[in-house]
Amino acid sequence: MQEKLIDGKAIAEQIKKEIAAETAAIIDAGKRAPHLAAVLVGNDPASETYVSSKEKACRKVGITSSTYRLPEKTSEKELLNIINFLNKDEEIDGFIVQLPLPAHLNADSIIEHINPHKDVDGFHPVNTGRMMAGLPSYLPATPFGIIELLHRSGIQTAGKHVVVIGRSNIVGTPVSVLLSRKSPKGNATVTLCHSQTVNLPELTRQADILIAAIGVPSFVKADMVKPGAVVIDVGIHRITDENAEKGYVIKGDVDFDEIVKVASRITPVPGGVGPLTIVSLLSNTLAAYQKKIYQ
Ligand code: NAD
Repeated sequence: MQEKLIDGKAIAEQIKKEIAAETAAIIDAGKRAPHLAAVLVGNDPASETYVSSKEKACRKVGITSSTYRLPEKTSEKELLNIINFLNKDEEIDGFIVQLPLPAHLNADSIIEHINPHKDVDGFHPVNTGRMMAGLPSYLPATPFGIIELLHRSGIQTAGKHVVVIGRSNIVGTPVSVLLSRKSPKGNATVTLCHSQTVNLPELTRQADILIAAIGVPSFVKADMVKPGAVVIDVGIHRITDENAEKGYVIKGDVDFDEIVKVASRITPVPGGVGPLTIVSLLSNTLAAYQKKIYQ
């Protein structure tokens, strides 16, 4: 069983070491450290957790991090003032506006105000457009993490049939673009499935690599997986469990206990895709500092 697991935690630690070495070299050369900022509006607990994990990860690799915590009732004008300030501040290399935003704020229009050169979440239409065109761009963190996870686990994608379940703008759609494009980490044939897909199990059973980003706990069952397939589980769900020490367990979008018996490789939840997401944000911040994307 152990050899089947794709150890996202270990891969993330390795990438962090690489980033830390590059950051140390920058600081040793007498330059300022790369700087990532986050804007957090309101008190969404999952967003709080994500932002504090980001701060911790930054500290670990020597990237400066700052967080702008704004009250739930922040107006669009107030938020745009902060974004304009961050867009101009030459000591901030990249920043994110943590989603979801409170309902009175329109995330699409807020994101469009971020300077694409500092959009390390890769959500600005300029970056998504550049990604579509195969140009250098900041890649959204989770899809970036997934392609890195596959690559560093020695899983070939070229010529493989990848089936992605879920077409969100932050996971399903961009990962399907990245895996199908002409590049060493792509070159797969991709089928993108969603809530209107007919005969989903028939399609998922054809997958050499199955990526589940549905948002429904344990949605993918063992009979939906081809024996020997690689299964990447993007889902994260906190499920109440009185027998668990913390009173809950973390589950993914796939029925891990059954699928692990059929798959050749599988990501656990937690410890699979999740750790790579934050690391991708650190990689994008370092790239922003080094002006590697927009030269
Ligand atoms: P989303 O809700 O935006 O999208 C879900 C997608 O699943 C939709 O495109 C929908 O068409 C599809 N879908 C829903 N029901 C379906 C069905 N019955 N059959 C086929 N397709 C169906 O979700 P998201 O933001 O893409 O996130 C997906 C999951 O990944 C969530 O559990 C989320 O918490 C998790 N997530 C994890 C990370 C990470 O770092 N590991 C990052 C982002 C999201």
